[in-house]
Amino acid sequence: MIIVFKPHTPEDKINEVSKMIEHLGYEPRVIKGVEHTVIGAVGDEKIHRSLEIFKSFPCVADVIPIQKRYKLASREYHESDSFVMIGKEKIGAGNFQVIAGPCAVESREQMRQAAKDIYAAGVRILRGGAYKPRTSPYDFQGLGEEGLQILKEIKEEFNMPVITEILGVTHVKQVAEVADCLQIGARNCQNYHLLEHVANAGRPVLLKRGMASTVEEWLSAAEYLIVHGCPNVILCERGIRTFETATRSTLDLGAVAVAKRETHLPVIVDPSHAAGKVDLVLPLSRAAVAVGADGIIVETHPDPVNATSDAAQQIPSGKFGEFIKSLTPIIEAMRKA
Ligand code: PEP
Ligand code: MN
Repeated sequence: MIIVFKPHTPEDKINEVSKMIEHLGYEPRVIKGVEHTVIGAVGDEKIHRSLEIFKSFPCVADVIPIQKRYKLASREYHESDSFVMIGKEKIGAGNFQVIAGPCAVESREQMRQAAKDIYAAGVRILRGGAYKPRTSPYDFQGLGEEGLQILKEIKEEFNMPVITEILGVTHVKQVAEVADCLQIGARNCQNYHLLEHVANAGRPVLLKRGMASTVEEWLSAAEYLIVHGCPNVILCERGIRTFETATRSTLDLGAVAVAKRETHLPVIVDPSHAAGKVDLVLPLSRAAVAVGADGIIVETHPDPVNATSDAAQQIPSGKFGEFIKSLTPIIEAMRKA
């Protein structure tokens, strides 16, 4: 931490702060400038003694952390891109993956048709929510255990790994038995208790960015997963809440570039929840590839008109081959870039 004093702070105030820093377990290193004096507080922040208190001192202009709050996720810790295996599929470190499937598991027939269509289009990782986090309690909440059973059957039939969302700690064991990758949804990005439990499940985790999470908060959530035993974390930008209403959420592609720069973890984009409308999914997907994402996760449904959730944004699965075809030139261009 660096404590920056206001201009012309008297010597005795600086000494006073210096002593307090020492008392809190850090070594104070005073650097005197012409106008400003700063103290570098050297020590291990893991001792949990916060220096934030100095922000409230009238003589202090700022307290600036120098260590990243996310260490294990950072590129300083691991310089090259890491990859994550979802079942037998590799994602990251040059392996671009399209993950696809319906928003919600609705029936065996719906999942079978979706899986058949996306498999024919070349997709090798299936998504589908058995438990759905819905804004209204009157909306379809997912099939729960029955949905998990359907996912199990379909993944075995098509030999495709599946990703599904975990809503609460009581579901972890049950969902981890079926899912090859556990999704933490945007609404739970900062549910630290859940992150700790999910990290223990022995499965890779797809961590969506919260709708109102800063990049630092999102990466710190990833750090929670790593610290608690899950090194296989995939970050997912899915759009954030802004003043803009033309799209469902504002896709923050800048955050993808920042996450790629700051961390070694694979970073993917969910264009479906950002777009909210089917016609915007392809352009946002192309942009995601171009910005350097390691994959995309796209919602697709055999019969979007009758979908029980997110109907307007789901690509008809019968047309998924066309979608992939339109995306492929950009994927190939980025591979060569
Ligand atoms: C989903 O993937 O269906 C979902 C609910 O996503 P998010 O958490 O990004 O809203
Ligand atoms: Mn959805």
